[in-house]
Amino acid sequence: MANDKRFLDNRKYGHDDLAPIGCNDCLGCDSCCHGMGDTIVQDPYDMWLFCKNMRVSGGAQVTFELLISEDGPWELSYQDGVVLPNIKMVEDGRCPFLNDKRCSIHPIRSGLCRLFPLGRAFLDDKIDYYVMGGRYGCERHSDDAHMVSIKEWLGYPDIDRYEKFQISWHEIKTNIREASSEISYEEYKKLQEKLLDNFYKIPYKDNFFDDYERRVSRWKM
Ligand code: SF4
Ligand code: SF4
Repeated sequence: MANDKRFLDNRKYGHDDLAPIGCNDCLGCDSCCHGMGDTIVQDPYDMWLFCKNMRVSGGAQVTFELLISEDGPWELSYQDGVVLPNIKMVEDGRCPFLNDKRCSIHPIRSGLCRLFPLGRAFLDDKIDYYVMGGRYGCERHSDDAHMVSIKEWLGYPDIDRYEKFQISWHEIKTNIREASSEISYEEYKKLQEKLLDNFYKIPYKDNFFDDYERRVSRWKM
């Protein structure tokens, strides 16, 4: 990899590697839960994990429609040419799930929250991880980081299947981006609606990965 100032070092890591990312449980710092704008994009796995574990008052299941409603914690935004949901920051720029300087949904926080301060690059059949540095990373990680396995840091019970899902999801989004310059605006809008219908609006079954793979097999642009 070329020397890139976004990275703490010039290494790429696999999920079994140890990386200098341990930050002693953040020790009262909550700076990466502020001022994130629309960047905490929520993928279908994030939605499944959230909906499976949260209930609205009265016990009803959380749905995509509720999440993106006016009072919900998500909103839709353009993310590099694809309309996707992201966590909607509250008025002072803080994440709505930040409570008393701690993440109130820590065990079910989304993939991008888990990833920080790692970046990732998608290859055909694998993901390379990088440690972000400087203003892209976490100062505490750079100054006082201890080594942690990336698999442990991300905390997913089945990292192989999770990465397989991420690679597939990345490919679907890339295909939409690439197609967008070749189709009419009306066709693009329909494609976007189809993406949200197929991968977000219908609640996922208990086994996320099986359900996701079924949806991919039905997906045609
Ligand atoms: S900036 Fe670093 S130490 Fe602070 S909350 Fe984020 S990850 Fe934790
Ligand atoms: S979901 Fe949790 S970890 Fe992610 S930005 Fe919000 S408070 Fe921080």
